[in-house]
Amino acid sequence: MNLKINLDSPHIKLKGLGGYRIEVLKSELNIHSIADLLHFIPNRYVDRRAFHKINTLGASNTEVQIIGEIIDVEKVRSASGERLKATFSDDTGNLELVWFKGISYTQKKLKPNEPFVVYGKLNQFGGALSIVHPEIESLSTFKRKGTHGILPIYPSSERCQKAGVSSVFLRQIIKEAFERFGNHIQEALPEYLRNEFGWQEKRKSLQELHFPSTYEHLQKAQFSLKFEELFYLQLQLLEKKQLRLRNIKGFEFSKIDTHFNTFYKHHLPFELTGAQKRVLKEIRKDLGSGVQMNRLLQGDVGSGKTMVAVLSALIAIDNGYQCCIMAPTEILAKQHYHSISSLLEPLEINVKILTGSTKKKERDSLHQELSNGDLQILIGTHALIEDKVVFKNLGLAVIDEQHRFGVAQRSKLWKKSKLPPHVLVMTATPIPRTLAMSYYGDLDLSVIDELPPGRKPISTAHRTDASRLRVLKFVKDEIAKGRQVYFVYPLIKESEKLDYKDLMDGYHALSRDFPMPEYQISIVHGQMKSEEKEFEMQRFIKNKTQIMVATTVIEVGVNIPNASIMIIESAERFGLSQLHQLRGRVGRGSYQSHCILMTSENISDDSKQRIESMVQTNDGFKLAEIDLNLRGPGDLMGTQQSGVLNLKVSDLVKDSQILHLARKKAEELFREDELLLSEKNKIIKDTLVQIMNDKAFWSYIS
Ligand code: ADP
Ligand code: MG
Repeated sequence: MNLKINLDSPHIKLKGLGGYRIEVLKSELNIHSIADLLHFIPNRYVDRRAFHKINTLGASNTEVQIIGEIIDVEKVRSASGERLKATFSDDTGNLELVWFKGISYTQKKLKPNEPFVVYGKLNQFGGALSIVHPEIESLSTFKRKGTHGILPIYPSSERCQKAGVSSVFLRQIIKEAFERFGNHIQEALPEYLRNEFGWQEKRKSLQELHFPSTYEHLQKAQFSLKFEELFYLQLQLLEKKQLRLRNIKGFEFSKIDTHFNTFYKHHLPFELTGAQKRVLKEIRKDLGSGVQMNRLLQGDVGSGKTMVAVLSALIAIDNGYQCCIMAPTEILAKQHYHSISSLLEPLEINVKILTGSTKKKERDSLHQELSNGDLQILIGTHALIEDKVVFKNLGLAVIDEQHRFGVAQRSKLWKKSKLPPHVLVMTATPIPRTLAMSYYGDLDLSVIDELPPGRKPISTAHRTDASRLRVLKFVKDEIAKGRQVYFVYPLIKESEKLDYKDLMDGYHALSRDFPMPEYQISIVHGQMKSEEKEFEMQRFIKNKTQIMVATTVIEVGVNIPNASIMIIESAERFGLSQLHQLRGRVGRGSYQSHCILMTSENISDDSKQRIESMVQTNDGFKLAEIDLNLRGPGDLMGTQQSGVLNLKVSDLVKDSQILHLARKKAEELFREDELLLSEKNKIIKDTLVQIMNDKAFWSYIS
C-alpha cells in the first residue's frame, strides 16, 4: 500500500507534545504542521564541538564548553536571596558555577566525582572565572543526547520558555519528526540542478539545517533551501507571465501614423532623453506584438514619465483606439489634463477629464462621446473605473503612481473593452530591483534612469527649530528672486485632528512671518472641497501666491517648475519614500532648488538615519534600498501585499544575491523548456503545480 503522508496536514503528533505545547507552537512560532516544523529556521548556531581547558579561557562573554568535575557545592544566602555555588574543576584549574533559580533541582543533579559537561557564557571578575546558569549534563547523558556538535538555537518567546518549548526541546521533536517522516520529504530540485551547485537532496539539506555536521555543509544546505524557495517564487511569477503571453491576446497596434509622427516631428517641446527613447521603444514593441502589454514603468520623480504616456497614447489613437490615464488624486488628474491637452492642442485630439466632481451634465455628454468613440483620451481619477464609464474601444490604460491603486481597481479596467487593454503602470516610487522582481515579476519592467538635462541636483539640508529664523530669511531671499516655496506638514491618519491643528498653526505663524500684501499664501489640505483646492492650486501655479502650505496632498506628481524650495515640517514623521517624493516637487526647473527638512532637536535613531540618507543622496533607487533595509519588504510594499510572499527560509533583503540567482535560473529554465515537458524537469513541474494548487496565490496578484 502506498500511503502518502501529507506533511502539511495540521495534525502534529509527536512524543512529549501535548495540546498546550501544540498551541504554543502555533501561536508563538507559527508552526502548524510537520512541514512547518522541519522548515523552522534557527536564529543562530552555537559551536559545541570544541572543549576548552580552564587555564586557556579568555575574555568575558564568550561561550565556552568544558569537561570536568564538581568538587564542591554550597548554598549561599545573602541579602539579595539564595544562590547555589559550585566549584567546577578540570585538570588545569577551577571556575565557579552559579544558579539563582532551580536551586534544589540543580543541587540534586550535581554529583561529585563524575564527569560533567558545562556550557555557558563566561564571566571574569578580577581573576575569578564564573558561569551563571550554565547548561550542565553528565558526560554520559551528553553523549547519549547528541548535544555534541553545532547546535541550532531557535526563535523563542517568554511563552515558549514557560511552556518548555526551548531549543533543546525543539531539537528533540525535530529529531523525532525526521526519524518518523523524513522519508516523506519531497524532493523539489532536480538532480542536474543540485549537481550544478553541489547541493544535497532536500531531506539531507533540512537535516543539516537542524543537525549540522560542519559549518560548510550547513551553509550549503541553507543556500539550497533558500534558493529552492526563491526559485519557486520566481517560477510562479514567470509562469503567470507566460500564461499572459500565451493566452491573453491584445490589440495589435501595428502602425505608427500621423498623430504620433506629427507630434514627434513638430510639437515635441524638448528632445527626449536616451532613457525615454529606450522605454518608448520597449513600449512600442509590446503594443505591436498582438499580446497584451502589462508594463511597469519606473522613473524617479521628474524623470519625464508623462511624455512617455502621451506618446504611447498617440500610438493607440493612430490605431483607432481610445486611451485613458488614471491618476490617484484630483489635483494630479487636473494637472495631467491641463498639460496634456495643451501639448496635444495642435493635433486636435479630443481630450477630456472625469473626476468625482465632474458635473452631471458634463458627465452625460462625456459618456456619450466615450461610447461613440469621439473622445480619444480620457484623463481622470478613480471615477474612470465606475461601471457607468463605457468606452467604445479602450486600447491603452495608463495608471500613474500605481501605489495608490489596489489591484482590484486595476483589474476593473479589464472589463472596459473587448480584449484587455494594454496597461502601462507608472510609478515614481522606486522599487528596489529585488522587490520588483518578487512582487511584480509577472510584469515587464521599464526604467527611466536618467533625468532631463540641465537639472541642478536639489540641495538638501537638515535644520531644527533653533535655526528657524535663518530658514525663514533664506525663504524670503528666494522669494525676492522670484521663486516659490512649499511648506509641507505631516498628515498621518490616526491623528488627523492633531495634524490639522499643526497645519493651521503653521499657516497662521507663516501668515505673520510673511505678511500681506507683500506675500500671498495658498493652503491646500484634505478637508477642503475640491473646488477650493483647485482654486488655491491654480493661484500657486499662476504665481499669484508665493507660498504653498499643504499636507501631503501635493505629494504626488504636481509639477510647478518655478517652485524651488521645499520645506518639510516635522520631517521625522515622514517615511523615507514620502520624503523623497515630496522633495521631487522641486528641482523641476532650471533654478537651483533646495529641500529643508525641519525636525525637533531630539529624534529617534531611525529618523536620524532617514534624514541623513536624504541629505546624502538624491538617488531614489538608493533611498529605496535603504528604506528596504530599514523597514523590511512587508512594510515597504504595504500590508495589502505583504502577505503575498510568505517566505519561510529566505529574506528578500539579506538573500538578494540568491534571489538574483534564482531569477536567472528560472528564466533559463523557461527559455529552454517553457512548458516544463522534459523528463528532467518533471520534479519542477510537479512541485509548481502543487504549490499553485495549494495556495490561493493567484488571487493576490492582479
Ligand atoms: P514625472 O516622471 O515625475 O511624472 P514629469 O513627466 O512630470 O515627471 O516631467 C517633469 C518635468 O520634466 C516636466 O516639466 C516635463 O515637461 C519635463 N521633461 C520631461 N522630459 C523632458 C526632456 N526630455 N527634456 C526636458 N524636459 C523634460
Ligand atoms: Mg508624474
